[in-house]
Formats: sequence, C-alpha cells, structure tokens
Amino acid sequence: MAQRTLLVVLAHPDDESFPMGGTLAKYAAEGARVTLVCATRGEAGIPGLSAADTAQIRTRELQAAAAALGLADVRFLGYLDGQLAAADADTVVGQLVNILRAVGPQTVITFGPDGISGHPDHLAIHRMTTSAFDQAALPARLYYLAPSAATLQGCGVIPSQELAGGSVAAIDVADHLVTKVRAIQCHASQDPPFSGPPEIEAERLTCHEYFTLARPIVGNDTGWTDLFEPTLMRTS
Ligand SMILES: [Zn+2]
Repeated sequence: MAQRTLLVVLAHPDDESFPMGGTLAKYAAEGARVTLVCATRGEAGIPGLSAADTAQIRTRELQAAAAALGLADVRFLGYLDGQLAAADADTVVGQLVNILRAVGPQTVITFGPDGISGHPDHLAIHRMTTSAFDQAALPARLYYLAPSAATLQGCGVIPSQELAGGSVAAIDVADHLVTKVRAIQCHASQDPPFSGPPEIEAERLTCHEYFTLARPIVGNDTGWTDLFEPTLMRTS
C-alpha cells in the first residue's frame, strides 16, 4: 500500500493545532505524511506589532507546532492575513492545484462553508480549496472541519450546531491530546488557554475531532472513524 498522505489547507498559523491538532498528530504518528498549506503567516494576529514582525513570530510558532505534531512539510501561499478573500481566486486555486498534484494526497482537509468562526479568510480558503480539489481531479477524499466540542474549545466560538451534518468522521484523538496541547502552546503569541503542564491540560480536551466528508458525495452517514478508509463502524 502506498504511503498515506494527508494534505491540510488552512488560513492562519494556529488553525492546525486548536481544532484538529489531535487528528494531525494521530496520522503523523501512524506514519502518514502530513503536509500543511497555510495561506497567510497570520500577519494581523498580534495587536500593536507590524505585519512583518508578526509574520516572523507566527511563522516560527507554526514551525514549532508542526514539529510537535510531526508534520512532514509546511508551505505558505504568501497572502496577507485578512486579505485572502480579496486575492485573485484563479491564482490561489492554481497554486493549490499545483500543490495537490505534486503532493498527491489520498485525503485533503480544509474549512467547511461555516469557516468555524466565520473568519473571511477561512471562508475564502474553503471555497478555493474546494475548487482546486475539483479541478485537480485526484482520486482523493475531501473533508471539511466540522464544528464540535473540539473546535469550541479551540477557537472559543460557539458552533452553530453540534455537527455540520452529512457524512461525519469522528476521529478518536485520546492518545494524542498531550501532543495537541504542546502544539497549541507553541502559539504563545495567541495567548493559548492552556498554560499548565501539557499532561494536565490535556485532561480538559475532548477526545474526538469531527470532519464532514465533502467529496466524494456518498449521502448521509455518520459512522466514519478514519479519514483514509471510512468504514461503517459506529462510534456510539
Ligand atoms: Zn484562522
């Protein structure tokens, strides 16, 4: 079997750790090659600091978090935090198609149409990644991050519903919560709500992260427990 390859396309440094750090750590620990594409360097994320200085700090934080999670590769698209929606969509989609074809993932993750927090950059990367996925026409699966207790804990945003509906994969990340906390703590500039020892803080985190299967469209089901080989095993 070919090496499992997971491509994650997000907007800001910290989007990877707070809502899905357990899932990324799990697949990396199981031997999957995990590549993260980040559209911006989080330039707007430190009040009072210049975009250039903020980008430098948050790039380092993301690289530290990626190392903690065991990610193979981090790539930046080079857009400014808060301005992705204003970028030329065809250009961004073209960049993503090239990355999709070069990386050849079996599984792709991005934000869903809610963007979890509704941040315009999250909505933009959702649209652009979905277009690129369809254009690249790979034999792969596309998942959207679903609102859940995990994203509530991570982002401090009340999800509009417990789950996004559709075909939902519930990933058991119980064995990777300490790693998730370590990755979150790398984003020190974002005042992460977990300041204690990772082993203690991990006990506050929920054990599942949720993803909605967007491609291929297989009708409603809620039994997936794996992002690569969905089975109909029930989680409850
Ligand atoms: Zn974000």
